[in-house]
Amino acid sequence: MIKDIIESSNKDLEEVFKKIDEIEEYNSKKVLDAFIQNSISETDFNSATGYGYNDIGRDKIESVYASVFKAEDALVRSQFISGTHAISTCLFGLLRPGDMLLSISGKPYDTLDAVIGFTDNNSSLKAFGVLYQQIDLVNDDFNYEEIERFLKNNKVKLIEIQRSKGYSTRGSISIDKVEKVVETIRKVDKEVIIMVDNCYCEMVSKKEPTEVGVDICVGSLIKNLGGAIASNGGYIVGRKDLIELCAERLNVPGQGKEVGPSMGQNKYILEGLFMAPMIVANALKTAIYTAYVFERLGYEVSPKYDDERVDIVQNIVFRDANKLIDYVRGIQANSKVDSNAIIEPSDMPGYDDKIVMASGSFTQGSSIELSCDGPVRSPYIAYQQGGISYQYGKLIVTRAIESFIEKENV
Ligand SMILES: *Cc1c(COP(=O)(O)O)cnc(C)c1O
Repeated sequence: MIKDIIESSNKDLEEVFKKIDEIEEYNSKKVLDAFIQNSISETDFNSATGYGYNDIGRDKIESVYASVFKAEDALVRSQFISGTHAISTCLFGLLRPGDMLLSISGKPYDTLDAVIGFTDNNSSLKAFGVLYQQIDLVNDDFNYEEIERFLKNNKVKLIEIQRSKGYSTRGSISIDKVEKVVETIRKVDKEVIIMVDNCYCEMVSKKEPTEVGVDICVGSLIKNLGGAIASNGGYIVGRKDLIELCAERLNVPGQGKEVGPSMGQNKYILEGLFMAPMIVANALKTAIYTAYVFERLGYEVSPKYDDERVDIVQNIVFRDANKLIDYVRGIQANSKVDSNAIIEPSDMPGYDDKIVMASGSFTQGSSIELSCDGPVRSPYIAYQQGGISYQYGKLIVTRAIESFIEKENV
């Protein structure tokens, strides 16, 4: 039966893949044009050291990012550990004691618990006197009325929108919905800073949040835009005045974007961005294939294989702890790196539940390379994402599913 499903996937996925190819083509043009517009040259691969004054390649990378996002400015640095650090820097950079942070997409990503102050931490925004309020999504969409009412009655400094679902069961938020909510917000509040956590969503659609009125947008270089080549880092793009504040928070007040040596990373960050449209397309195809096979096997998946995609994340609902763990182990056992590792659910910094995680990646924790993980809590959902090429992704997923089926039948 599994053989038949795999066989029929080629034909059944043709139409869906065509749409992915079309978006890849569109985004490739966007990136190529940005390289040309900013006249990237070989000397830009050189790096400054020490303070990082006159790091021309670094500055050009930031111009390229700004072009791709149609934004005023960008901060793209390997001094950011990852996306979480970039988001934390953005929030600390823009919020002051007494200010209010409002999330309008429900509870933010788990690693922000200690940043915002859901978990007790003396370094959190809460410890610095930043107030936090939250409006939950309704049926996977914004609660437009409540947002409007809230903004009429409260002074909010910054609104956070998280597009990808994180470790929740909601749907991810499309660019059209972001555009619509920006309009709602601007009807009542012209000043509030609208910030988007764009992790996992870059290059999945034709537009990025900064093209629909968002002020500032943040993400990780060990996800989509790193193109599986950047070794670490994060990006913030958006309004120039806000970028400068973020740069002063990352670096030093009075020394914002001018400092911070790129230390040999320029070539990799540029190469990663250049590859990103293609890598993201391949990650999407791997996710679609996975959804297709599990759907045919009778599992609940989200998104479904032919749903429109907003991010590269694929959920498979196992409803059983052992099944979740077995599948994740299958991904690990068939990965290129650490295939011999037997993974166990374990505690992870920044996460409350035990997490089971397969990541046979060149870059530690990279989830643009094929990775699969999930908190060991009901309903036992795997969150799978990445895949450098569809061929590798398909191979690994197929093998993991085959061994999973064998095990479940014993
Ligand atoms: C992954 C992720 C983050 C954190 O990014 P890291 O690079 O892992 O630190 C934040 N928000 C969302 C929605 C994510 O998916």
